Amino acid sequence: MSAEALRILKSVFGYDRFREPQADVIGHLAAGGDALVLMPTGGGKSLCYQIPALLRDGVGIVISPLIALMQDQVSALTQLGIRAAFLNSTLSLDDVRRIEQQLVGGKLDLLYIAPERLTAERTLSLFSRIKIALFAIDEAHCVSQWGHDFRADYLQLSLLHERFPAIPRIALTATADPKTREEIRHRLGLAEARLFQRGFDRPNIRYRIVQKQNARKQLLDFIRAEHDGDAGIVYCLSRKKVEETAVWLAAQGFKALPYHAGMAAPARQHNQHRFLMEEGLIVVATIAFGMGIDKPNVRFVAHLDLPKSVEAYYQETGRAGRDGLPADAWMAYGLQDVIMLRRMLADSPADAARKRLELHKLDAMLALCEQVHCRRQALLAYFGDQLDRPCGNCDTCLEPVKTWDGTLAAQQALSCVYRTGQRFGVAHLIDVLLGKATEKVLRNGHDRVSTFGIGKQLDEQRWHSLYRQLIARGLVDVDFDSMGTLKLNDAGRPVLRGEETLMLREDIRPEKTKRAARKT
Ligand code: ADP
Ligand code: ZN
Repeated sequence: MSAEALRILKSVFGYDRFREPQADVIGHLAAGGDALVLMPTGGGKSLCYQIPALLRDGVGIVISPLIALMQDQVSALTQLGIRAAFLNSTLSLDDVRRIEQQLVGGKLDLLYIAPERLTAERTLSLFSRIKIALFAIDEAHCVSQWGHDFRADYLQLSLLHERFPAIPRIALTATADPKTREEIRHRLGLAEARLFQRGFDRPNIRYRIVQKQNARKQLLDFIRAEHDGDAGIVYCLSRKKVEETAVWLAAQGFKALPYHAGMAAPARQHNQHRFLMEEGLIVVATIAFGMGIDKPNVRFVAHLDLPKSVEAYYQETGRAGRDGLPADAWMAYGLQDVIMLRRMLADSPADAARKRLELHKLDAMLALCEQVHCRRQALLAYFGDQLDRPCGNCDTCLEPVKTWDGTLAAQQALSCVYRTGQRFGVAHLIDVLLGKATEKVLRNGHDRVSTFGIGKQLDEQRWHSLYRQLIARGLVDVDFDSMGTLKLNDAGRPVLRGEETLMLREDIRPEKTKRAARKT
């Protein structure tokens, strides 16, 4: 069987050897076993079901959430001489009939299908009349309600197990946190499936998270200095910012195109197509862009806004350097990101349990941003993957982070929150600490509180950094009903009382920023 698999790999796909753990997965599935496959984006998940579908009798049914992805896969497979087709809402009734006839006649090797289509009674009864080699459930994390791409249709897929118990099933995903993994097993009836997992490390990606000063300018400096003429993806949180950033980059002389879910489908597809076909294009996008984007030579992924979770960060940065050559994952991150995401979470209509979980995920992402040791080690540890020594290819390894004892300063900062009545945001609190008699300070009588002017040992930027780290670590709360007001919480009490030593990150200040600041 394995010799036959290797023959197909070479003769049909034109590759010389399997990547880990493709050969094992293929062997297991070909022999009729169920599998859960966790591999990073770009790792080569598709072959894990495509080859067994060719090895076994009957057609392999692939459930995929993305119509665009289906079309790409099917046309690629057809070019390789594999008999593949897809069933989704873009087809005419005639097309559907034609494909159904091919199915019944045993004329297909692979059929891609959208989940909502699969669970229709018409499809199920059709499936009961044909020979099926296997079911592959791609992007299986979509079944997880805790995940970031939840699709209600995926929940119905448990019926595959009930209706077709004898047919092997394989679920695949690049999201591997233990919670999601267990949910996939549970909801898809894959409790007994064998787990295949490949290391999540992407050694050729250099991770860097810089402090946001002037994000656009920082992005421009980064691209000009390191990626002039390279293909890249710039992620932003909002559609508006995507549009503005794309226009701005174009004005700076780059080939930059926007991509977000608010654009008309043809325009979106056009931009995606250009990105895949042309060299040296930059796509500025919301997270709507990416699932299934398979362009090997994306040289950089830049984030102008903080992703909501480490999973999202990993998936998005994972689109860089799929060809194995050096690539950059660059992000600018600052206090406003923390406040913005915390606010979005507070405002979201999700129930309390869900909010707690999302907050937990956001905290993990913030911890990665504030990380003082190797970022790759922290990133992999999050996925339960261990890296024995610092990687040497991330910003904290290349330029070790200095830390400073912020115990006393944190005490002053929290005390200032308390003395001013827990009714003010960071900017005002810093004015008070620095003893600035602004109109607002005077109006509120804050020149007479005990913390007025006690913080002159640090400059404004340092105080800003300190508050950001306090917020990121959850040592002080941000109240969103009143525009970013800081409030004390239980976690911060030991710090306020000076009972806990607090080692903080010393932010790296770009030389240029310092010079510019001195001039003013
Ligand atoms: P994933 O679904 O895990 O993101 P894909 O299945 O799309 O990844 O594969 C990513 C890329 O790697 C594709 O271009 C694919 O052709 C290539 N690839 C997969 N397996 C191998 C292999 N054994 N040898 C060489 N290239 C491979
Ligand atoms: Zn490192």
